[in-house]
Amino acid sequence: MAELTRREMLALIGLAGVSAALPGGAWALPSRQRAPLLVNGARLNGTLASLSAFGRNPQGGVTRLAYSDADKQAREWVIGLMREAGLDVQIDAAGNIIGRRAGSGSARKPILFGSHIDSVPDGGNYDGDVGSMGALEVMRVLAENHVATRHPLELVIFQNEEGGVTGSRAMIGELTDADFALTSRSGKTIGDGIAFIGGDLRRIADAKRRSGDIAAYLELHIEQGGILDETKTNIGVVEGIVGVFWWDVTVVGFANHAGTTPMNRRQDAMLAAAKFTVMVNRVVTSKPGRQVGTVGRISALPGAPNVIPGKVVLSLELRDLDEAKVNRLFDEISTEAKKIGQENGTTFSFKPINVNHPAPTDPRIRAAIEKSARELGLTTRAMPSGAGHDAQEMARIGPAGMIFVPSVKGISHAPTEFSRPGDIENGANVLLQTLLRIDAEFA
Ligand SMILES: [Zn+2]
Repeated sequence: MAELTRREMLALIGLAGVSAALPGGAWALPSRQRAPLLVNGARLNGTLASLSAFGRNPQGGVTRLAYSDADKQAREWVIGLMREAGLDVQIDAAGNIIGRRAGSGSARKPILFGSHIDSVPDGGNYDGDVGSMGALEVMRVLAENHVATRHPLELVIFQNEEGGVTGSRAMIGELTDADFALTSRSGKTIGDGIAFIGGDLRRIADAKRRSGDIAAYLELHIEQGGILDETKTNIGVVEGIVGVFWWDVTVVGFANHAGTTPMNRRQDAMLAAAKFTVMVNRVVTSKPGRQVGTVGRISALPGAPNVIPGKVVLSLELRDLDEAKVNRLFDEISTEAKKIGQENGTTFSFKPINVNHPAPTDPRIRAAIEKSARELGLTTRAMPSGAGHDAQEMARIGPAGMIFVPSVKGISHAPTEFSRPGDIENGANVLLQTLLRIDAEFA
């Protein structure tokens, strides 16, 4: 092919007439019209494949439990890559890995972005890893292209996400001595685990960031559900992480002989619990929206084939982005439960046992993700995250946003978890562009 003049080349990419030659042959294009900076997709997917060697299991996934040897080795490997990318890497007192890149405005608060590299037992190679390696790739591209950002940037690899978003909860100052005493899946207590990976409980307060300490938090993650894959959408713009509400529900009836008590004289707690389970499903599905409700655990007492259960304890879980809606659902469920109890002489009582409040993402970040994806020619869909993420904790101290990429068939927390290399590359490009956009727009 004949060599083109610079003007011809620019005309080809639609930029003729808006460029100006700089000394040394560099071209200064108005930033508005500059082709977007892109990640190196092959390198990103290669790094992701290399990470999968740490804790690899026979099924082809990973078991990289937080505080295990595999976790520690993977962390050391990632720290090496972060240093090679020019980052100033520290392990904070809570054991989170933080790689910092200076910004041009020294007084500005940092933009944080990252994810986690610990896994569940028999997990996959994408949950957390995609966002972590995507963030590393973004840092590499910024370094190679000598891009100066106004804000300092911090790549964060949160520790023990799968064991209850431990690292991010520590970062917002939520962890207590009771948490440190809990035993993690690795067999170590959280406290011992933090020391094992290079944290320091005596200085744990140093890890804490307060509201206003960060300019923003961004996280790229696999969807872990099948909506993007089914609808062939490139990018999910996360509206928020749903609130999760748990209750212990106790049904009290009267334990009696299963052979001698006639059917019309029973106060059967199990029968009431069964009707309750069906009713929860009916109430939750009777309203428009994406709320979900589950009875996931049940135990009957005394628990013998020949005794009518006198007591049943079961769980009720409700999830939605809108806490007021969850409250309305719960009110209706408890009213209906009372009616069920009246029909067969049982009583229902509800005890809240765990609440994770909904964490809406920041509307300006959602808009930035949307715009960045559109400019890259990618399709988007607004959606809630039904799973918990470190972003839900970070949203409590600053504006947070999440970018989802498709999970093939919606499989996650399993060795067959898979996201396509092209989708991962798209997600990292959206992360990069969103980051640059909020760096330019945010104070
Ligand atoms: Zn995850």
